[in-house]
Amino acid sequence: MNSNSTLDAIASVLRNKQRFLVLSHFRPDGDAIGCALAMGLCLKEMGKEVKVWNEDGLPQRFAFLQQSALINTPPQAAEAFEVVIVLDTAVRNRVGARCLEKIAPGALWINIDHHVSNDRLGDLLYIDSAAPAAGQILFELFQQCGLPLTAPMADALYAAISTDTGSFQYPNTTARTYEIAAELVRLGVNIGAINQALYENSPRRRLELLRALLNVLRFSSGERVASFALSAQTAFDLGTIPDDTEGLIDTIRSIEGVVVAAFFEELEGGLIRLSLRSKDARVDVCAICGEFGGGGHTLASGARVAGTLSEVQERVLAAIDRHMSALPA
Ligand code: AMP
Repeated sequence: MNSNSTLDAIASVLRNKQRFLVLSHFRPDGDAIGCALAMGLCLKEMGKEVKVWNEDGLPQRFAFLQQSALINTPPQAAEAFEVVIVLDTAVRNRVGARCLEKIAPGALWINIDHHVSNDRLGDLLYIDSAAPAAGQILFELFQQCGLPLTAPMADALYAAISTDTGSFQYPNTTARTYEIAAELVRLGVNIGAINQALYENSPRRRLELLRALLNVLRFSSGERVASFALSAQTAFDLGTIPDDTEGLIDTIRSIEGVVVAAFFEELEGGLIRLSLRSKDARVDVCAICGEFGGGGHTLASGARVAGTLSEVQERVLAAIDRHMSALPA
């Protein structure tokens, strides 16, 4: 098993090499996009040749970030790089097959991540599962190692950290997270404008989807588990795009008395996308997702599970029920 490198060792690769590819996971969230953009902009500022790919491209809701057009889907033909930097991604296959097959062999791989279930992919690793967002690690890298940290990078890092901490609310948010946020504001982040862009800009379609999901909301494990499921047919009828589902699970996590929230989404190819959230570290949803081949964090995890929507729902709800026995009745 590879062990952690240092931020200095990673900074020295960034200084000494010239051709870089920056990647993050498919179905990218704010941390994946914010980190990829901040790293891409940092390398450009250093005069490097840099490409930033995401298997699913840039979600429209992050297009407001300055210079976000740097993030593209992978090209048709394979390309060679000296260094591939994988951010906010715990396992290689979450980069996506279309990205992986376009990378010529021979590059040095760097992985910077904060998932407890990290597979330690890559040659140089910096995995800190105590960091509430991969964006927090990137801030430390840029600041501690004297790398460029511009206003557009500050916006990208703020988006990364704010979205992955539930707007600085989740329990792994530390004093350091707030200090970093203050530093990002000093670097030029406009708090009102960026929070409005991040949190008050949902397409109506997303709210229509939430309405449909609340219609199928169910409770189990003595009302301490709330879940809802999205069939491919409903997604089609509502014109849902993948990014619309992001964060909807937080609505049912917020219910009084609910400890675990679950979201099931029917994908193509007989797969169900599972998202789990916990409000109590004694119910470790990373361990539950691990039983289904996935992973993530103790309080927020996911998996892709083969089966029909109803089959997977029943299996997962039964597994959650077993884990709920860690809690007093
Ligand atoms: P999601 O529920 O998709 O928002 O994911 C919650 C957390 O779990 C995120 O940090 C994801 O990166 C991580 N995650 C989701 N699916 C997987 C998976 N199949 N394997 C490993 N980590 C995952």
